[in-house]
Amino acid sequence: MMRRKNDNKRYFTRMGTRKKVHAFVRVKPTDDFAHEMIKYGDDNKSIDIHIKKDLQKGFVNNKQTDWSFKLDGVLHNASQDLVYETVAKDVVAQALDGYNGTIMCYGQTGAGKTYTMTGTTENYKHRGILPRALQQGETNRIIASHTMNKNSSRSHCIFTIYVEAHSRTLSDEKYITSKINLVDLAGSERLKKSGSEGRVLKEATYINKSLSFLEQAIIALGDQKRDHIPFRQCKLTHALKDSLGGNCNMVLLTNIYGEASQLEETLSSLRFASRMKLVTTEPAINEKYDAERMVKNLEKELALLKQELAIHDSLANRTLVNYDPMDEIQIAEINSQVRRYLEGTLDEIDIINLRQIQEVFNQFRVVLSQQEQEVELTLRRKYTLIDKNDFAAISAVQKAGLMDVDGHLVGEPDGQGFGLGVTPFSAKPGKKAKSKKMFKEQLSTSARKEGASSPVGGKDLDFSTSKTQLTPSSKEGDVKDMLMRDRETSSTEPLPLDSPKEELRPPRPSTPPPKPVAFEDFKNERGSEINRIFKENKSILNERRKRASETTQRINAIKREMDMTKEALNFQKSLREKQGEYENKGLMIIDEEEFLLILKLKDLKKQYRTEYQDLRDLKAEIQYCQHLVDQCRHRLLMEFDIWYNESFFIPEDIQVSLKPGSSIRPGMVPISRIVSLGEDDQDKFSQLQQTELPEGPDSISFYNAKVKTEQKHNYLKTMMGFQQAHRK
Ligand code: ADP
Ligand code: MG
Repeated sequence: MMRRKNDNKRYFTRMGTRKKVHAFVRVKPTDDFAHEMIKYGDDNKSIDIHIKKDLQKGFVNNKQTDWSFKLDGVLHNASQDLVYETVAKDVVAQALDGYNGTIMCYGQTGAGKTYTMTGTTENYKHRGILPRALQQGETNRIIASHTMNKNSSRSHCIFTIYVEAHSRTLSDEKYITSKINLVDLAGSERLKKSGSEGRVLKEATYINKSLSFLEQAIIALGDQKRDHIPFRQCKLTHALKDSLGGNCNMVLLTNIYGEASQLEETLSSLRFASRMKLVTTEPAINEKYDAERMVKNLEKELALLKQELAIHDSLANRTLVNYDPMDEIQIAEINSQVRRYLEGTLDEIDIINLRQIQEVFNQFRVVLSQQEQEVELTLRRKYTLIDKNDFAAISAVQKAGLMDVDGHLVGEPDGQGFGLGVTPFSAKPGKKAKSKKMFKEQLSTSARKEGASSPVGGKDLDFSTSKTQLTPSSKEGDVKDMLMRDRETSSTEPLPLDSPKEELRPPRPSTPPPKPVAFEDFKNERGSEINRIFKENKSILNERRKRASETTQRINAIKREMDMTKEALNFQKSLREKQGEYENKGLMIIDEEEFLLILKLKDLKKQYRTEYQDLRDLKAEIQYCQHLVDQCRHRLLMEFDIWYNESFFIPEDIQVSLKPGSSIRPGMVPISRIVSLGEDDQDKFSQLQQTELPEGPDSISFYNAKVKTEQKHNYLKTMMGFQQAHRK
């Protein structure tokens, strides 16, 4: 393991390009050099072999006498120094930059592989690549080194130098690792000539096989189309797995013997070299990240940016803005701002910083989902919701008579116990018995209901104080007043039963007409006035709704324009700030364009406020109108029920007993009477209802329960009326 501090500029560069295996030849000096057979090219990059005809016998190729090998360099009579310079120096230097490197010596035994790789120990000058590589690392401040050395001419020997390099600045979280493999291969000599026997032969066979596997692996690595590399074939290739070809720098140094007798081995070695030379590799840096150091660097940068922000804020004259994550109180404050904004009590939410903006959006979402839930809950509490697409459910509801003539759901009172007589017959107990008994019950409840839900002394719905004038045609200009007057007349004037209109009516049919048909008649006859008011109110409501929608659209348009203007203004502002025109004698200097934008924005804001106020007024009116329309609808249906019963069901004798002059009349009982009934009268009334009206015991219990509820209700209303009167 060796470490060094790296200050190399190429630290982050990547080779990225494909590189060939560098192939060198080193010729061992000998007194008996075969000058006629071995010739070097002038560039020292080629070597030519010529075999004299008489020596041809027994050679690999009998016909061929000349060979020429192109290499990256031929080293003859080269010093260890030069060999290191030529073969190893770059590989070692690049290893210190993060690229793996492998230098292999190949050749027959005695050709000088070990001499090249290790050198002689006794002579410093003759030291080989390994000690020089370590030395090269040393000058680059290698902290520790460790190599293994077990050499024998009959085995392969691999020295591995592990490199880990950190930047000299120490703040850099990136560091590189690499390794250098220095391989002193076993002798490559061919078996037939070495004359080996027994164990030695076996070893030689193994060695030759492993060299052949090495060649296969290297060739496979150079072939970009191959995805399987046979590394596992032998120990040698397995050990060199991540250092051969692929992403590392590779050098093959072929050691040859320059004597004529060794020419066959020389030729074989040179052929291997030229095959290796064709192999390409793609060296790459082995980069690693030091997580701890990275966190430290990020923390440092964060602190710096916070400081930067603080300076920026003070320059921009912003009072201390907190950029830390928000606490619960701050979030609650934003939530309240959002609510006030939605209610309209807050015009704008000031932008402070990004975190705050994000929280504002977040709170919008929170409020929205809460409101959705609330609305649904309210609806569910008030109505039975039916899926609009569920036709079966809708038709069932219509069949049950729960859908009124306007297509509105009826029968569900507005949360006040029993409503204004709109409960359909079918929804009541004993609905199958469409008999007189059934009707009587309905009649009595209708009568009581009127008392129950009407304003007591006009106090709970003080229509006259409302500023909304809905029907200019009415005397006092107030529909509610008309409804009230209408109610009063019907309670003080003689019964419609006695009226000429009633007398002129054709004789009662034996079977009553269907309700929808009868309803049409009713609207043209006795219900015409209520129906007219109902329709009028509805049209006013619709008109207000239309106006509200238009106002909303206008508000949205204004808002859009305001946003655009703000954006333009901000742009102008930033432009001005960039140009450095800050102020002059304490006065801000702005150009005309910006000034006009400011004026425009001011004007838009004014418009916005006006329209917004209009919208709020309209919404209040709509709510009020809606209430009136609902009341009219109830009233219309209730009056219809009374009329329907009077016209088709009430037996003569009961009608007589309920004649005017007594405190009871069918259809409507004046409120004043109900609440002012003395104990005795009240009893009489109840008794009358019990003896005269219902005949079936099942309906009595229903009726009794109803009366109880209504009595309670009346009591509460009266009390409230008193309290209100008291306050005034
Ligand atoms: P190998 O490892 O290939 O079997 P060696 O490196 O052991 O061969 O070399 C055999 C002998 O030749 C050794 O005594 C070595 O010192 C010597 N020798 C090899 N090459 C050279 C050279 N270039 N210069 C001087 N002596 C050499
Ligand atoms: Mg050796």
